[in-house]
Amino acid sequence: YSENIKQLPPDPLFGIKTRCAKDTRPEKVDLGIGAYRDDQGKPWILPSVRKAEKLLHESDDYNHEYLPIPGLKQFTQLAAKVILGDDSKAISEDRVVSVQSLSGTGSLHLAGEFVAKFFVPKSSDESSKATIYVSDPTWANHIQIFEHCGLEVQKYPYWNAATKSLRIKEYVETIQKAPKGSIFLLHATAHNPTGMDPTEEQWKVILKAISDNGHLPLFDCAYQGFTTGSLAKDAWALRYAIDSGLYSFPGVLVCQSFAKNCGMYGERIGAFHVILPEHNQALNSAVFSQLSKLIRSEISNPPGYGAKIVSLVLSHPELRKQWQQDLITMSSRIMGMRKDLVAELQRLNTPGVWTHITQQKGMFSFTGLSPSQVQELAEKYAIYMSGNGRASIAGLNPGNVKYVAKAIDAVVRE
Ligand code: PMP
Repeated sequence: YSENIKQLPPDPLFGIKTRCAKDTRPEKVDLGIGAYRDDQGKPWILPSVRKAEKLLHESDDYNHEYLPIPGLKQFTQLAAKVILGDDSKAISEDRVVSVQSLSGTGSLHLAGEFVAKFFVPKSSDESSKATIYVSDPTWANHIQIFEHCGLEVQKYPYWNAATKSLRIKEYVETIQKAPKGSIFLLHATAHNPTGMDPTEEQWKVILKAISDNGHLPLFDCAYQGFTTGSLAKDAWALRYAIDSGLYSFPGVLVCQSFAKNCGMYGERIGAFHVILPEHNQALNSAVFSQLSKLIRSEISNPPGYGAKIVSLVLSHPELRKQWQQDLITMSSRIMGMRKDLVAELQRLNTPGVWTHITQQKGMFSFTGLSPSQVQELAEKYAIYMSGNGRASIAGLNPGNVKYVAKAIDAVVRE
């Protein structure tokens, strides 16, 4: 069998991290992996999380026992309220099934397994698969997660590189042409990698087309509160899809990550929510039991530490207030860095237009740099970013932004 096991290339994003770590040049800059860094370029433990950890360590709940299979109930209930809103009709009507997941990736994987099993088109063909449409481009892991779950993965046009804007017309046409009952993966906020979200008006057109054509929306929300600093603003699209009463979906799926907005990347803390179209106790309970079986067979039960910390942050009034402040600290630092980078490029008269960097939102900027320019940045200047020109703006700080601008200026002029 060993001849079947072929060597694969390293993961493109984690591969950048490894290359950057090996680089001994002191001026090196890591704009690869999407993880927040402070003004000194260091990982940041949110003050709200630090306080919650202290409270947990001092409490009777500080142990390393197993959690129940679907996770910590207090956490999943609070997580649902954070994403759907305190006054969510779906929650008050008992239409939400929530389970804990291994961060956003684990949530997407559960969603993939769930739709692969229960959202298969009715057809005489035994091999027919559920089809999921993802944006072109999208976070690279989306495609392999869904393929791994046995889904057929298709793309919908999203980004127009020439105009640095959305291909909204082709996007909507793809929704209209997709076979009824397809699944559409939507980035809830801070689209990765482009940093460009639909406007509210565009969201309405997209959601209407999904609803009119009988598709299932799946929101991936990895950056709530991280984009604008406001939890409500960053969840606008998905709350509107669920609560406005204007759409009729067979359900809405929501994948939620606390990696970025709580800075708890390595603790793998997230949730998966299934929002049913109407109250149905039997279906609610059946969905919960099926998700529990998937979790049991894959991870037995989810990790407890992050769930306890996030529950404290969300439920303790003082910590919650601090968290909201922390979200503003992170989102405004990133927005500030976008402005500084553009100002510096303009000061240098760097050829090209750079204002898209301040129009884009969230952790990333799709800079428009070509693969060869990206390679030159790494080789000559020790500046690392994804080959598609995606830069993690969180890696910029007052100490390196001028250096990065100067290097971009040099590679663009070559
Ligand atoms: N979705 C998107 C769009 C992401 O960018 C990420 C993180 N890079 C995730 C999901 C999941 O991240 P995690 O598993 O760390 O929560």
